[in-house]
Amino acid sequence: MTQTFAALGVSSAFLSALQDIGYKQPTPIQSKSVALLLDGHDLMGVAQTGTGKTAAFALPLLQRLDQANEPARPRQPKSLILAPTRELALQIHTELENFAKNTSLRSTVIFGGVGQNPQVRQLQKGVDVLVATPGRLLDLVGQGYVDLSMICVLVLDEADRLLDMGFIPDVKRIVQQTPKSRQSLLFSATMSKGVSQLARNMLRDPIRVDVSPKQPTVKKIDQRVIMVENPDKLEVLQTLLHDESLSRAIVFTRTKHGANKVAKKLCAAGVSADAIHGNKSQSARQRALADFKKGRTWVLVATDIAARGLDIEGVSHVINFELPHEPEGYVHRIGRTGRAGASGVAWSLVDPSEVSRLRAVEQLIRLALSRFDKALNKLDLEDTRRRTTQAATNQADSRREGGSSRKRHDRQRRNQRHAA
Ligand code: AMP
Repeated sequence: MTQTFAALGVSSAFLSALQDIGYKQPTPIQSKSVALLLDGHDLMGVAQTGTGKTAAFALPLLQRLDQANEPARPRQPKSLILAPTRELALQIHTELENFAKNTSLRSTVIFGGVGQNPQVRQLQKGVDVLVATPGRLLDLVGQGYVDLSMICVLVLDEADRLLDMGFIPDVKRIVQQTPKSRQSLLFSATMSKGVSQLARNMLRDPIRVDVSPKQPTVKKIDQRVIMVENPDKLEVLQTLLHDESLSRAIVFTRTKHGANKVAKKLCAAGVSADAIHGNKSQSARQRALADFKKGRTWVLVATDIAARGLDIEGVSHVINFELPHEPEGYVHRIGRTGRAGASGVAWSLVDPSEVSRLRAVEQLIRLALSRFDKALNKLDLEDTRRRTTQAATNQADSRREGGSSRKRHDRQRRNQRHAA
């Protein structure tokens, strides 16, 4: 397998950008696909977030546009990347800008939930690469602000998720508006019937690159199950958050309402937490994410869709407050920790009513997860009650002191973590 980006045919403008970002060697999906994509082949990539798939499609796409050296035209992007969520779209756009920084290529990102005018202005200035979520794109196409007839490279990222979220009719309408002569790429973490069908309709004689792990769970992640009834989950969660090895945690709930409730209760107990889910405004979501990335909060309570595809470094723990509806969701969730070779911990709090979901997860990952025994659980619960009472007392004190002591406590805790 080729070991350097230069040997894969990546040109000097991009090599120096990669050097600045710190990518020393191609990841397996990059080694397998970059040269073929530079040659113009279609591609079906089975790969999860975390494998380096963004650079695998973005580098050849940008390099081909750079070599063609044609000016960007108003309203007529030359390349389109469709992503299921705003967060993923933003993340891809940021990576494109990093890779293309030594070129004059222009990219922009459009998604719903925010005003369209700034997006329209960018499109009117002319862009080479457009990153979009399907709904807003169709909306702007309908209004005549985007014309897809000049698209020469089309990328569908996280196709399985686009399917799960009901975007496929939109995706099909979008694909129909692009020229048949385009180069097409489709990435998906899993290969369901729906994804295969989409691939058949969209791709021409594609190369298939599969970097899905044999066992879909990241092996390095230490996974445990704690059997606990729903009413006790919050207390157990707080105990877990006291773990010394925990530096930054994502807590998953099944519902938006649940995410708000858990975040609120954690904040009341003196934990700096925030919630991220689809009912929050785009700016609130971005703020929650930025605070978490910068360490201003260290617990992010999230629903599956909001957290999908997010690339956040240094998440030591993923805690499933509830198991997801679909067993595949478990794999996506725990993939938020243990990224880029680091090890991570995933705990799942499982109510007796969720046992059938747990079995489905274990079947999928072909692994029996170790369960915490109840006696230990009870001891921890006693300890939590004491700490929770203490936290409530501290909080009352801090309110009297104008809130400064809680902030100080949080800051001290963060500093300790960062020093460790
Ligand atoms: P992705 O699967 O594209 O979301 O990438 C996952 C993470 O791996 C991101 O943080 C990338 O910046 C990083 N990454 C991708 N390719 C490389 C590489 N060749 N060397 C080092 N890090 C990489």
